[in-house]
Amino acid sequence: MENYTGLISAAYIVAALLFIFSLSGLGKQETAERGNSYGMLGMAIALLATIADPRVSNVLVIFVAMGIGTVIGLRLANKVEMTGMPELVAILHSCVGLAAVLVGYNSYFEVDHGLSIVLSDERQIAANIHLIEVFIGVFIGAVTFTGSIVAFGKLRGLIKSSALMLPHRHKLNLIAVIVVLVLMVNFVGNGGADNALYLMTLIALVFGLHLVASIGGADMPVVVSMLNSYSGWAAAAAGFMLNNDLLIVTGALVGSSGAILSYIMCKAMNRSFVSVIAGGFGTNVVVDRDIDYGEHVEVNADAVAGILLNAKSVVITPGFGMAVAQAQYPVYKMTQALKAKGIDVRFAIHPVAGRLPGHMNVLLAEAKVPYDIVFGMDDINDQLADIDVVLVIGANDTVNPAAAEDPTSPIAGMPVLEVWKAKQVVVLKRSMNPGYAGVQNPLFFKENTQMLFGDAKDSVEKICAAF
Ligand code: NDP
Repeated sequence: MENYTGLISAAYIVAALLFIFSLSGLGKQETAERGNSYGMLGMAIALLATIADPRVSNVLVIFVAMGIGTVIGLRLANKVEMTGMPELVAILHSCVGLAAVLVGYNSYFEVDHGLSIVLSDERQIAANIHLIEVFIGVFIGAVTFTGSIVAFGKLRGLIKSSALMLPHRHKLNLIAVIVVLVLMVNFVGNGGADNALYLMTLIALVFGLHLVASIGGADMPVVVSMLNSYSGWAAAAAGFMLNNDLLIVTGALVGSSGAILSYIMCKAMNRSFVSVIAGGFGTNVVVDRDIDYGEHVEVNADAVAGILLNAKSVVITPGFGMAVAQAQYPVYKMTQALKAKGIDVRFAIHPVAGRLPGHMNVLLAEAKVPYDIVFGMDDINDQLADIDVVLVIGANDTVNPAAAEDPTSPIAGMPVLEVWKAKQVVVLKRSMNPGYAGVQNPLFFKENTQMLFGDAKDSVEKICAAF
């Protein structure tokens, strides 16, 4: 038995190292594939070591669970569209949260609790530590569970993506945290034998719902990585309860890398990290404002073809709508046609355009657009004033001047592509609907902007035909 335990610990160390290599590989495009392979190998070793553990009394249950998980996982992976990836990630995070809650309750029910049980000092300390593990694990798990469900609903469009603004929302959050702390003291002080755990679980479930619901659509990228971090800490907490070192290490890796990513994203989007993790703390914006921006000007595909052919320089800024329409292939065909006529064509990519980091880069790479004409926001913003025509294809929030010009806007301060500075702007979208953040875009009403309505793929094909 001891030999086995040593062997399993060694396998866990190898798996943990492979997970670290995996994360480091995923940091760069060129090594990402290798990183993925390390991750898969690490997971395979971890699974085999767990199944082979002589302390596991019922291997059949593991195989049944793995069978069900494999079928669901394969179906989802085959079915999911690129645009649906963030919502899939969100719902998977909710599963991690739920697992942590179930592990916590299981670990709580496994032990007899109550002040009537007299323990030695050492065992009392161990019992208290166990109770704290259970309490914190269930709390993080429950917040992750419901928070991720709301994130899923917002990303799938089942729930309004704008921020829920309950009166005194920050006070409500603060009261919830204080009550949870009081309950924890009560729970541990009473030897875990009261209803504090149940009450805390209920509060944590509502807290998770409220925390994510009160964050606006434009901050969703940060919320997704933040929930990724929470799910890691929930897994680490489950590792403590199950006495499983690998789960602790893996959870901590996911938790800390998610937190670092959230921090980097907040900096890039000019958002306060504390504000986002505290459910939009400090942001008191007016969401449903009725501002009259005037009239917009419509244009047809033939006219857009003419505008493009008369330009010397064209910048294309794609957004979520290009992904929905799968317009990247005709967009590249149009680019080639313009380049053949000696027109300088470049792409400008906002870091959070679409629904996942790097979404637009992936689509353009898929259509074989050369890397040297694709520019990041910071590299091209200064040059936009000299550009003859900017073609906005299914982008909205990422080109919204309100972020730069209106301090009361829900997206105020978020860096955007300053396309309105170009000589002419043509926006391809289907209607005047707002973008993901739910805010109207004054760009559409500017004097130098014209709107070409319709599905982005159809519109680009019509422009190509008009060439
Ligand atoms: P937006 O989501 O703001 O807007 C996309 C626009 O595309 C819509 O206004 C829509 O208008 C239009 N559209 C949709 N379908 C089509 C179609 N078939 N043809 C033409 N147009 C279409 O896009 P952005 O990329 O500018 O911004 C991304 C937003 O998503 C940001 O707020 C970002 O914070 C958020 N987000 C980003 C994540 C990330 O990691 N990148 C993750 C989660 C959220 P209409 O309906 O009128 O056609």
